[in-house]
Amino acid sequence: MNERANPYPLGLRLAGRRVVVVGGGAVATRRVPALIDAGADVFLVAPELTPALRAHVDAGRLHWARRRFAPDDLDGAWLVQVAVDDALAAASVSAAAAERRIFCVRADDRAAATAWTPAVTRHGPVTVAVLGGGDPRRAMTVRDAIRDLLGARKGPFLTPQVEEGPPVNTPGGRVALVGAGPGDPELITVKGWRLLTEADVVVADRLVPGLLLDELRPDVELVDASKIPYGPSRAQEEINRILVDRARAGRTVVRLKGGDPYVFGRGGEELLACAEAGVPVTVVPGVTSAIAVPAAAGVPVTHRGVAHEFTVVSGHLAPDSPASLVRWEHLAKLRGTLVVLMGLKNLPAIAATLLAHGRPAATPAAVVQEGTTGAQRTLHSTLGEVAADVAGTGLRPPAIVVIGDVVGALDG
Ligand code: SAH
Repeated sequence: MNERANPYPLGLRLAGRRVVVVGGGAVATRRVPALIDAGADVFLVAPELTPALRAHVDAGRLHWARRRFAPDDLDGAWLVQVAVDDALAAASVSAAAAERRIFCVRADDRAAATAWTPAVTRHGPVTVAVLGGGDPRRAMTVRDAIRDLLGARKGPFLTPQVEEGPPVNTPGGRVALVGAGPGDPELITVKGWRLLTEADVVVADRLVPGLLLDELRPDVELVDASKIPYGPSRAQEEINRILVDRARAGRTVVRLKGGDPYVFGRGGEELLACAEAGVPVTVVPGVTSAIAVPAAAGVPVTHRGVAHEFTVVSGHLAPDSPASLVRWEHLAKLRGTLVVLMGLKNLPAIAATLLAHGRPAATPAAVVQEGTTGAQRTLHSTLGEVAADVAGTGLRPPAIVVIGDVVGALDG
């Protein structure tokens, strides 16, 4: 056998096919998730398991034989992964595999293995696998460089779909409702960012971090949803129409929304409009300002021994407005954290209502403007004083009001 011969790369399609993993320690813990992801019928042989492997067993994601390996375990298998330190035990698995002509990956001894696992990076439908010619570190270094290139936030976008158009399986257009996060451009999700780099059309809200849009390819059509010149309800119809029209024209559309699409973001209406028009639509959740903005100002929305609940509420309508769906008098009775979005204008009425129905005036409160951005400003106050303090300091929207003992809970 020529030890220096090049390996022959393959993409194994393991769905429904038996893969035996021998060993229940750290190596198996790292190897098993990719096998499950590939849909393999994983059969794990080991006397003991790590808690993470145990969780896969409990969730029914793999089968576990609680014992040492026996050669018969390989009957019917397509592949075997040896994840034990004991060289003698590993060699016996290798021998049983060779006898059955089953490829055998050996974590303990690359030279004795009949197959090597590459370093991998995945980008949507694209998988890049790197073999380092016998040196796993070299493979990882090359993999990391490719990952950086594919996920590059600056410069040319190398995600293959960008250059080749929509993926082969979707002939028509599609819409993704993507949460952009609370303001810091790095707080978009990995999936949201990937879809953004693949978009032909981006329809963005006022609260979307400008830096994300800065990095779009020049040929991307950017629609600024905040500049649509009608009243709020006509504007929403117009946005829905743009999403549906562009998708029907075969374009890949990203509807980029501040925070999470479903938190006071009308994402549900846009989803229904697309679905009713027969346009494929998905939702990519985002980091909501309701949790992230207090966190950025040092306020955890829950804290052990302090708050066992947090309530997120819109303050865009005054408590006495007939259109309000919020029972403020009930919220006043809660002990936990109250997070008020869009509440600056009505803050005097909101605070007065909470006080009138029993929330103590000394309850700590904080107001955070433009949280997670370079312009973040925070005011610390109490429920009794917060409305006057906001007026005094000139805080402006977008801002979040947090009320409850969690404000100050992390202060030394
Ligand atoms: N879908 C968004 C919320 C939309 S409602 C989300 O999940 O975050 C808009 C309100 O969110 C604003 O009026 C403000 O109250 C709050 N908000 C959003 N981003 C903010 C930020 N960076 N700082 C403070 N408040 C913010």
